[in-house]
Amino acid sequence: MRAVDVLMRKRAGVELSREEIAFLVNGFTAGEIPDYQVSAFLMAVCLRGMSGEETVALTETMLRSGAILDFSGVPGPKIDKHSTGGVGDKASLVIAPLAASMGIVVPMISGRGLGHSGGTLDKLEAIPGFSVRLDEKRFHQVVSQIGFAMVGQTEAIAPADRKLYALRDVTATVESFPLITGSILSKKLAEGIDGLVLDVKVGSGAFMKTRGDAETLARSMLSTAKRLGTRAVALLTDMSQPLGTHVGNALEVEESLAVLRGNGPPDLTDLCLRLTAHMAVLGRIASSIEDAEKRAREELRSGRALSKFLAMVRAQGGDPKIADGGVLPRASGTKPVEADRAGVVSAIDTEKLGWAAMLLGAGREKVEDVIDPGAGFIVHKKIGDEVLPGEPFVTLHYNDPSRLAEAEGMVQKAYSVSDAGPIPAPELILALVEQ
Ligand code: URA
Repeated sequence: MRAVDVLMRKRAGVELSREEIAFLVNGFTAGEIPDYQVSAFLMAVCLRGMSGEETVALTETMLRSGAILDFSGVPGPKIDKHSTGGVGDKASLVIAPLAASMGIVVPMISGRGLGHSGGTLDKLEAIPGFSVRLDEKRFHQVVSQIGFAMVGQTEAIAPADRKLYALRDVTATVESFPLITGSILSKKLAEGIDGLVLDVKVGSGAFMKTRGDAETLARSMLSTAKRLGTRAVALLTDMSQPLGTHVGNALEVEESLAVLRGNGPPDLTDLCLRLTAHMAVLGRIASSIEDAEKRAREELRSGRALSKFLAMVRAQGGDPKIADGGVLPRASGTKPVEADRAGVVSAIDTEKLGWAAMLLGAGREKVEDVIDPGAGFIVHKKIGDEVLPGEPFVTLHYNDPSRLAEAEGMVQKAYSVSDAGPIPAPELILALVEQ
């Protein structure tokens, strides 16, 4: 087989065989097929798309390029959750311990933030001492002992995805449904899970800006997971404004602790309860979403979910005194960004807010950038809220003032204020998509 012949067939829109896809992906991972040919392949996929069969073959090849973990010796259903990400989405920090306290085993492998979007690993690393780099043996131990662990992707997990993603990032080929499907599922299915709940975000702060695109991605991931033998459901959820009120790594840990104590903001709390309930139903430890949500609420109320979180923090080297306050890093300066007129918040360009957080040091412009864990902002006004002149939209938290004015300008531009009557808050959960 020659790579150039496979490229010609893909360029012409011919459906590739499983062998052809494996030839390209495995050859690239082994360093035998050069970047320039795989770049051409990725662009052809972007332009031509992939059939369901091709997407399954791509995902399976990427998954099998590395280790598939085995938690079958740990009692309980193995279920994880994945979010396509957004601004203020710290739900994993709540859901993983909450699900574990209900008896679900959650071997969670997460990613870092890039651009306007945050990443679970960066949030966890805001906890002093916390390590997201556990070797396979320690990962297994923590999951066995506590019921969940939260780590980063190792060299051994889906190496094909690492190499392909690096190339996609610089060849304008990130935005492709089959490539995103292969990338997300190869990493998640490598956890050796029985089921996966997908939170596909929709709106101005999300990767998918329209409901139609979010649904297409959800369906692609669900059908691919099904053909690979993994139960899955997807929720399409709102990202037209930040989730909760805190954006930035330490700030988001603080807000997650509030949810685990039962006094978090309603949108974040409700979303965490719903996603966890779907994990419980998928894991067959609850017969209905209503029953599962009730049980999840009790895990929060009793403090058991918070204890689980702190046990995991301790097991991964973090300081469990975060629960008593004063241990998380705090920015040295704060600055409110105020409205200059009265009205109702009619829209938020949430991606812009995410870029503002990044300018303050809460996120990365380039993969090698270093995060400032204390930086970020607290949101005071969401869509539908009334605002008076001089009232703050958000309060910025910063250590480095060099890009403060730029961040402030971004926040001002992100908020639209209208005179026209009441504006309803956006629906949080837009749809459930099933296999
Ligand atoms: N997240 C991933 O892990 N991969 C993608 O391709 C897009 C988002």
